[in-house]
Amino acid sequence: MTTAIVIGAGFGGLALAIRLQTAGIATTLVEARDKPGGRAYVWHDHGHVFDAGPTVITDPDALKELWDGAGQDMSRDVTLVPVSPFYRLIWDGGKVFDYVNDGEQLEAQIARFNPDDLEGYRRFKDYAEAVYQEGYVKLGTVPFLKLGQMMRAAPALMRLQAYKSVHAKVAEFIKDPYLRQAFSYHTLLVGGNPFSTSAIYALIHALERRGGVWFAKGGTNQLVAGMVALFERLGGTVLLNAKVAKVQTEDGRATGIRLADGRQLDADMVASNGDVMHNYRDLLGHTRRGRTKAAILGKQRWSMSLFVLHFGLKEKPEGLAHHTILFGPRYKELVNEIFRGPNLAEDFSLYLHSPSVTDPDMAPPGMSTHYVLAPVPHLGRAQIDWTKEGPAYADRILQSLEERLIPNLRANLTTTHIFAPSDFATELNAHHGSAFSVEPILAQSAWFRPHNRDRSIRNFYLVGAGTHPGAGIPGVVGSAKATAQVMLSDAGVPA
Ligand SMILES: Cc1cc2nc3c(=O)[nH]c(=O)nc-3n(C[C@H](O)[C@H](O)[C@H](O)COP(=O)(O)OP(=O)(O)OC[C@H]3O[C@@H](n4cnc5c(N)ncnc54)[C@H](O)[C@@H]3O)c2cc1C
Repeated sequence: MTTAIVIGAGFGGLALAIRLQTAGIATTLVEARDKPGGRAYVWHDHGHVFDAGPTVITDPDALKELWDGAGQDMSRDVTLVPVSPFYRLIWDGGKVFDYVNDGEQLEAQIARFNPDDLEGYRRFKDYAEAVYQEGYVKLGTVPFLKLGQMMRAAPALMRLQAYKSVHAKVAEFIKDPYLRQAFSYHTLLVGGNPFSTSAIYALIHALERRGGVWFAKGGTNQLVAGMVALFERLGGTVLLNAKVAKVQTEDGRATGIRLADGRQLDADMVASNGDVMHNYRDLLGHTRRGRTKAAILGKQRWSMSLFVLHFGLKEKPEGLAHHTILFGPRYKELVNEIFRGPNLAEDFSLYLHSPSVTDPDMAPPGMSTHYVLAPVPHLGRAQIDWTKEGPAYADRILQSLEERLIPNLRANLTTTHIFAPSDFATELNAHHGSAFSVEPILAQSAWFRPHNRDRSIRNFYLVGAGTHPGAGIPGVVGSAKATAQVMLSDAGVPA
């Protein structure tokens, strides 16, 4: 029986392990931390359930496919609940936009901002649908191993003007400056600057409108737990508290892994869901290939980081949405400073997650659970000592939330917990503490992104945010499908 090791139990690693095990490859999933999930880790504190990262679940069908492929029913392990509005957007001056799925309601919101933009919005929606078909349906799960595949995709990408940025493309359709923000900020959710990320990422609008925005009952951690349960029922093995120190190689092939505690595990194939720089610089640093690829990755552009502040409240604030975006006084200038550094800006834009709005069980009775995050430069752009700066930055964020949205917030806190860029670096081995890996600009996408199979060590594979198509749950679950195709074909196993 063919054996495989998958390093890392993030969404990409889990989805890959499920696909391999389903196809009959005996798979061991090896995770450094005490719980699976990666960026979707979970903490329990004072009766609150704090999901560490992803909260917006889109394209549920991509997840359901994992259960369907194994002949099992997703609803046995996970309950997905629809969220509406998808997001509430609030600007500094007090303007509010409920980003909803219902076409009529959405258009009514647009008309409130600028009735002349209705026609432009409809054309933008058609454009988003076209890039969704091309960029997500056709190319989203293609393992770009050969330049020829990129060349074949190029004419369609040119026709859709993929060389323009999302914001530039939105601005062609929509005039109102607030609406331009409302339909371009989504790239930030996958680590992209709306002013430099390819317009292909406008597909997120179509993805959300088609598949909806969902929340897993009990939190995203329950989706992770459901994937682990499925994998184990299929006969897969999960090792936690098992940090991989080295990918063993012999004659240019991977033979297994060595753990930091000295244990060795052999396998016919090794895949890694870890940070792509960590894979090459640390796990394969003993090989020439590892050193060469790490040097190349060191020259690439990396996504920004995030400052995440989890907090519990003794009360349930009235009238909150599940997902709120609070824009700061600046947009383009702020975003550019976040991506370029070298300092932490005085102002911020925030995303507030309030899961108790949808699921009261996320907090003790009568209380509520939240996290608020601010995109911030990664450590390669701004060398901020977060142990020093973090608490003061957290206070400023809480003060702003109190002034803008939740009166008496600070008097009602039950607990707080900071996860800063330095934590992304130490807890997740993330290069520069980046929250989303290699930045999703056109020159670092598809064939130009780290490949799903290494070109020299040909039984070493990559999966997750650093590979095609990129970050976000649909992205990394798509990358798992692409990597599984290659691994199964290499192993001579029917998919
Ligand atoms: C705060 C935040 C909010 C987000 N919100 C959303 C959202 O709402 N919706 C959405 O779709 N996406 C969201 N994202 C993006 C999404 O969470 C990520 O892109 C995705 O989860 C990354 O998955 P991954 O497969 O790349 O693996 P990761 O989650 O990066 O996991 C990699 C795993 O590998 C393990 N590992 C690393 N090195 C080793 C080693 N040497 N040995 C063993 N194990 C190792 C790590 O411990 C980790 O568990 C968010 C991200 C963040 C940070």
